[in-house]
Amino acid sequence: SGGQGDMSPELWARIKDHPCYSEEAHHYFARMHVAVAPACNIQCNYCNRKYDCANESRPGVVSEKLTPDQAFRKVVTVANEVPQLSVLGIAGPGDALYDWKKTKATFELVAREIPDIKLCISTNGLALPDHVDELVDMNIDHVTITINMIDPLIGTKIYPWIFYDHKRWTGLVASQILHERQMLGLEMLAERGILVKVNSVMIPGINDEHLKEVNAAVKARGAFLHNIMPLISDPAHGTHFGLTGQRGPKHAELMALQEACAGGANLMRHCRQCRADAVGLLGEDRGQEFTLDQIPEEVA
Ligand code: SF4
Ligand code: SF4
Repeated sequence: SGGQGDMSPELWARIKDHPCYSEEAHHYFARMHVAVAPACNIQCNYCNRKYDCANESRPGVVSEKLTPDQAFRKVVTVANEVPQLSVLGIAGPGDALYDWKKTKATFELVAREIPDIKLCISTNGLALPDHVDELVDMNIDHVTITINMIDPLIGTKIYPWIFYDHKRWTGLVASQILHERQMLGLEMLAERGILVKVNSVMIPGINDEHLKEVNAAVKARGAFLHNIMPLISDPAHGTHFGLTGQRGPKHAELMALQEACAGGANLMRHCRQCRADAVGLLGEDRGQEFTLDQIPEEVA
């Protein structure tokens, strides 16, 4: 829903101009993502590394990977041509916090030139607790964490491995670590007043029923929005779930789950699962107008 819903007036005041969080605002404010962070520290069964991180963006499209300097030039070029630009996000194509040096370098360059742009990241959460202080210092407006389970047993069907503390973990312990880090990161951000949205990928037969519990748990820990996204089934993703592949939810199944969660954490129903390099007003993508070969060598 695009309106105030059951949000407090304080919260609504903070997000009403945000193109992703308010359906009204997306007609007036634009956002862009830059794909500067290719490395990732976990493996999701639904991920195909050839494409963008499926956690925040539409899988199946290859986006243009940029260095921090290239991303900076792209953002300045877009800001000059799209006056409504209000939000810059980094959502991969891997994990923005695991690939932190590039994410940070990009934000620092952009914030120096365009101080009033809102900065956001999305992450799987594993590296999040280590970066909360820096996120506060850098004045990050909001963070999206993809949380697909709060039960590590269910996690074993989604995450074959994680890379944490200099080694690879598999099985139940991998999902236990991921779960603990996600919950800790969420609580730390909420405590410091950074807005946290939670994304969940609905995977029929794996976490679909369970997402009701996820909804209640993330609300209790301070998430201000919960965005339940359908698994976009792709033969290239299916192979990770076993030979039979994995289907995505039917529209009616997604609607029924969102309905069941109404009254829990506020649900976001208009996310378009933009590409990692999307540019423009929500529902429009001008990314192709701003590919690297079209932006100047020198800006600002
Ligand atoms: Fe907004 Fe969703 Fe697009 Fe991110 S992916 S910019 S939250 S609509
Ligand atoms: Fe892929 Fe994103 Fe999962 Fe990393 S967090 S494995 S990039 S979907």
